[in-house]
Amino acid sequence: MKAKERQAKNQPTSERNGTRYPSLWDRLIANCWVIEDEGEEDSCWLWLGALTPNGYPKISIRNPKTKKSETKHAHRIILQELGIKIPEGFVVDHLCENPSCINPSHLEPVTQSENLLRIYRRRNERIKNEINWGF
Ligand SMILES: [Zn+2]
Repeated sequence: MKAKERQAKNQPTSERNGTRYPSLWDRLIANCWVIEDEGEEDSCWLWLGALTPNGYPKISIRNPKTKKSETKHAHRIILQELGIKIPEGFVVDHLCENPSCINPSHLEPVTQSENLLRIYRRRNERIKNEINWGF
């Protein structure tokens, strides 16, 4: 029994995860497309995998405890991969307003009320700009 467990631990990570990528981080990076805009230092990393109906990146990950696949938000997973804790009940705000982006520097865990406040402010700002440009 113990030898079998040890054997399982010695298997390459890719086999343990059931994917062809050496790590979850590699899998995340392989599934996004970095827009290289001229003059833009820190551009969006667009998720090329599946999206939720709201346009958020989703990824299927095997839970090591239950051994079942679970669908997670890729933008939350990439923060967790970097060791950034998302407190219970917090949502991840896309500072770039691009829901399919997983660039960690464009993401910030915030409370749901802070997130709604930001959405409201951005929408107000957009409406104001549209009115200004409309005339
Ligand atoms: Zn972005």
